[in-house]
Amino acid sequence: MDEYSIPPYLKRSGEPSGQLRQRDSTPMIREMNSNRPSFSLYVHIPYCISKCPYCDFNSHVVSRIPEQRYTGALIRELKGYGLREPWRKRTLRSIFFGGGTPSTFDPESIERVLSSAASLFPFEKEIEITLESNPGTADVAHFKGYRSCGVNRISLGAQSFQDHLLKFLGRIHSADETRRAVEMVCRAGFDNFNLDLIYAIPGQSIFDLKADLEEAVRFRPPHVSAYNLTFEDGTPFYQEYRAGKLQPLPEEEEIDMVELVEETLQGAGLSRYEISNYGRSGFFCQHNLNYWQSGDYLGIGAGAHSYTAITHEKSGQRWHNEKNPGRYMEKIEREGQAAMGEEKRDLQTAAGEFMFVGLRLLEGIPVQVFVERFGTEPKRFYPQISDWIEHGLMEEKKGRLSLTRQGLLVANSLFVNFV
Ligand code: SF4
Repeated sequence: MDEYSIPPYLKRSGEPSGQLRQRDSTPMIREMNSNRPSFSLYVHIPYCISKCPYCDFNSHVVSRIPEQRYTGALIRELKGYGLREPWRKRTLRSIFFGGGTPSTFDPESIERVLSSAASLFPFEKEIEITLESNPGTADVAHFKGYRSCGVNRISLGAQSFQDHLLKFLGRIHSADETRRAVEMVCRAGFDNFNLDLIYAIPGQSIFDLKADLEEAVRFRPPHVSAYNLTFEDGTPFYQEYRAGKLQPLPEEEEIDMVELVEETLQGAGLSRYEISNYGRSGFFCQHNLNYWQSGDYLGIGAGAHSYTAITHEKSGQRWHNEKNPGRYMEKIEREGQAAMGEEKRDLQTAAGEFMFVGLRLLEGIPVQVFVERFGTEPKRFYPQISDWIEHGLMEEKKGRLSLTRQGLLVANSLFVNFV
């Protein structure tokens, strides 16, 4: 049997009493106390052991991670939102600890944040709580601790099962450490986990990728995210690319790789439901689905982004926090909040975001929702859609607009039309 116990805020009816008793005197148990849609919470932990040369995330390497102070700031920020509209008393559908490397934090710190969230917001019965972990920081006691405090999904940054590619990517872990980490995740009681893979790495052959995919599916992961390597502005890889020292793979090879990823993962029972994401039935990532479906999300922590459609503005409201972790903590300690002001967006920008985020999903976007939000049909907003349908890049079926297989291969060149 599992060696962990489930915290009170995640207890479900129908499970054994005594060990699992609902506490209906607190707001922790799900109440459909309003007809406002549920939302997602993103918690950013911005610290890493070392910086990978391709990474443009808000992640920092410091001599000593100020875990207690940073956790205190997260909780203070969260409490502020818990008292304010449009978040007050709304139901949470997912929580995601991302980074950086959240697995550098002890389970006690994660537990403090989760308890605080549970005291402020009702949780959906099937809430998904994910924590990103780097195999280089994997520790079975930590995984058990995360599971005990309510985390029910681990996202493991495997990236590759080949040491020469991991070394090229500047990862701190070896392939063997990833193998051991997957085993630990399962031993700790997680039946839901994701493996992150990167492909189209300079020097990687299609046979390298085949070996990576075959090894990944041997672990029977419920979910796999497979991203092609990109050279993002501001990273060491980008500088090397600009200096001609690093060559991306030729486009045809990359297309072959996309097809191999799809074929292998689908062959292993993982459905492709988003451009880069594959899951077994019942294991699609609820947190990311909420982003792609333009649902509301609240981000706490350094540089975290938030969005709500519940506002007098038709375009919704979007804002982000102070990016630097030190200044973020100071701002929270001084003012109780770290938002850097609202990002100004007009209706055109908001409609474009809705399109390029929603079209990442294979099911595409619901036309009616677009009309309700933006007052007109997508085809009237973007006349090019009719051409794309004619050329087999897009299709309209059962009230949804989506990219075809052909369209998915050239998705980025279509998305520029929405920016
Ligand atoms: S571990 Fe992840 S967040 Fe940290 S530097 Fe590497 S890619 Fe970026």
